[in-house]
Amino acid sequence: MSVSLPLAPDKDCQSCSRLVEFRNLHRANHPDWHNAPVPPFGDNSSPLLIVGMAPGLKGANKTGRPFTGDYAGDLLYSTLKTFGLARGDYEKTTDDSLELVNCRLTNAVKCVPPQNKLIGAEVKACQIYLRDEIDKMANLKVILALGVLAHGAVLSVFGERKSLYKFGHQAIHHLTNGLVLVNSYHCSRYNTNTGRLTEPMFHNVFRDIEKLTDS
Ligand code: URA
Repeated sequence: MSVSLPLAPDKDCQSCSRLVEFRNLHRANHPDWHNAPVPPFGDNSSPLLIVGMAPGLKGANKTGRPFTGDYAGDLLYSTLKTFGLARGDYEKTTDDSLELVNCRLTNAVKCVPPQNKLIGAEVKACQIYLRDEIDKMANLKVILALGVLAHGAVLSVFGERKSLYKFGHQAIHHLTNGLVLVNSYHCSRYNTNTGRLTEPMFHNVFRDIEKLTDS
């Protein structure tokens, strides 16, 4: 019997010169950091996949787990616990007791970008990994895109026309392949500090997801 292994970027992936240069800089300055593509977290038999943008420099890029040590992880992981999608203690390191329950977490781009800003070619270069992660989730029902970049990356994976699925906070898109794509503003420091995204707004998205994954 052949077992298909997940497609994952090599730790020294050379696909995006700008990201490689940035990685090498941080490998030299912080040899104790992860400083490599960050793999998904959570079981791939889950019905829910949450897609972020890319690792934060001193968060996921340092710890090696999506949203771990990133400011955005504080709201995300506390919300996942509130909705029974995570258990254990979130300690901002990978050796805490945190486990995801019925959900998997990944990023559209696996490497940290300078100034937290990606370019289109980097999102495109990393698309094969996101596609493979989605393909390997046999029970997948709902994808939550955190922010417009993740929304676009998911639509590109499916070859869907972006003009048919406009990004909006708490928007719910029924895709032609039967999956449901839910949108939320990204739980970034900027969005929460400016009040663009509040905790009740974020919880409302997860209330919708609860109904969508139950049906
Ligand atoms: N950390 C991540 O892993 N992804 C994001 O989108 C933001 C912070």
